[in-house]
Amino acid sequence: MSMKIGTSPFDERVERGLSDNFMRNAVTSAQGRFREGRLNAAEELGDWEEWRKHGEEIRHHTLENLDYYLEQLSDNVNKRGGNVFFATTAEEANEYITDVIQKKNGKKVVKSKSMVSEEIGMNEAISKAGSEVIETDLGEWILQMDDWDPPSHIVTPALHKNKEQIRDVFHQKMGYSNSEKPEELASFARDELRKEFLSADIGITGCNFAVANTGSISLVTNEGNARLVTALPKTQITVMGMERIVPSYEELDILVSLLTRAAVGQKLTSYITSLTGVKDEGDVDGPEDFHLVIVDNGRSNILGTEFQSALHCIRCAACINVCPVYRHVGGHSYGSIYPGPIGAVLSPLLGGYEDFKELPYASSLCAACTEACPVRIPLHELLVEHRKVIVEKEKSAPPFERLSMKAFRMGTASPSMYNAGTKLAPKIMKPLSNEGRIDKGVGPLKNWTDSREMPVMKNERFRDWYKKRSKRGGHE
Ligand code: SF4
Repeated sequence: MSMKIGTSPFDERVERGLSDNFMRNAVTSAQGRFREGRLNAAEELGDWEEWRKHGEEIRHHTLENLDYYLEQLSDNVNKRGGNVFFATTAEEANEYITDVIQKKNGKKVVKSKSMVSEEIGMNEAISKAGSEVIETDLGEWILQMDDWDPPSHIVTPALHKNKEQIRDVFHQKMGYSNSEKPEELASFARDELRKEFLSADIGITGCNFAVANTGSISLVTNEGNARLVTALPKTQITVMGMERIVPSYEELDILVSLLTRAAVGQKLTSYITSLTGVKDEGDVDGPEDFHLVIVDNGRSNILGTEFQSALHCIRCAACINVCPVYRHVGGHSYGSIYPGPIGAVLSPLLGGYEDFKELPYASSLCAACTEACPVRIPLHELLVEHRKVIVEKEKSAPPFERLSMKAFRMGTASPSMYNAGTKLAPKIMKPLSNEGRIDKGVGPLKNWTDSREMPVMKNERFRDWYKKRSKRGGHE
C-alpha cells in the first residue's frame, strides 16, 4: 500500500523521531507560529465557533448527499468539455492517468501538491510507465531532489529540513553554489522550475474543493505553482478524493476562509485558483484537454459508519499543528503519508489496521486536535473508536493492559480490596519515588517514565481526608 512510508517498525520510527533534536525543535517552533497565527486570524474573523459550526454543517450535508453532488459535478465537468473518471482503487486511478499521458505522448509531467496522488502512489506509476514527473510545490520539489524523501506534514511537507540541509541537497543534486539564504535558494528553485513548466506536456493538480454546481476545481496554494501547472501544458489532469466537494461557491467561500486561517493563520493564502473546464475560444491559456479523476480508494467504505466525519477533513493541518505527540515524534514516525491526529484516524481506514494499528494509540487523547479542527471533527473520539475496533478485532488487548484492567476491576468491585489497595499503593511506590515523583520506572511503567514523570500516591487518601474534614465540621 503506497500510503505507507518506510518499512521499519513503529517503535523504531518513534525512537528515531525522539532522538532527532533538530526535527523536534523545528516542529516545536513551527507549531508555535502556526498556532498563534490561527488564533489571531480566527479572532479577527469574529465568532470563530459559529464559523466552525457552519463549516461542520456544510461538510456533514455534503457527505450525506455525496452521490447527488458527485453526479452534479460530473455532469457539469462534461458540459464544459472535460472528462470524468471514477476510480474505485488506486490502481484504477493510476491506470487511467498513465493511459492519458501515454495517449498524449507525454514525456514530462509537472505537478502541483496533492495528498491523494501521494496516497495512490501516482508518481511511481507515472515513472514506471516511462514519463518524468516533476513536483512544483517548493517543499515537495526539495523532497523530490532529495531522492523522494517522504513528506512529514500535509501542508509544509519539508518541515523536517533546515536551510543548510536544503542548500546541500541543491548543491549535490544540481550543482547549486550559492548560500543557504532562503531568498537565494528560492530564486534558484524558481529558475529551475520555470524551465520545467515551459517544457512540460501534461499538468497534474490535486483539488482542494470541487464545486458541484459549476464543475469547477479550486486550488489553494502559497506559491502560484498550480496556476502555471494548469495554464501552460495542453493537457490537465486533476486528481481528487471523492469527498473533496462543495455544493456551490457560497460554501466554497466559507470553507476556504476556514482552511486558510486554520492552516497557516492567513486571511487568504497567496493564490486561490478556480478553473472550469477546458480553454474556451478566445482564452489565452488553459488546457485543451481536461480530465478529472475522482478517487474512492476505500472512502465509500467509511460512509455510513461511525468514522464518516473523518471524511469531513479539509486537510488544513490545524490538528497536526497542536498535537503534543507529533511535536515529539515528528511526521515520519507515523509511517503514513497522513501524519498527526488526522493521520492516526485516516490511515487505518484507508490503509487498513494491519499496517496502521499502532497509530490510534499514538495520542494522549488530550483533545487539542478536536478543539483546533475548523470543521469540528471529533478526532479524539474517533481514535477511541479505533481502539475499540482493534481490541474487538484482535479479541484481546495487549497482555499488560488485560492484566491491569483485570486487577483494576477486582480492586474496584470489592470495597475491602479497594480499601486495602489504596492503602498499600503509596508503600509499593515509595522505593521508586524521587521527591514525590517516579522518574525511573521499571517493567511496563518504564515506557511511561521514559518520557514523563509519574506522581507518587499520597499516604493520606481522599476518603481519609474527607472523613477528618467532616468530623471538624467542614473546616480544614
Ligand atoms: S482533521 Fe480537522 S484540523 Fe485536522 S487536517 Fe482535517 S480539517 Fe484540519
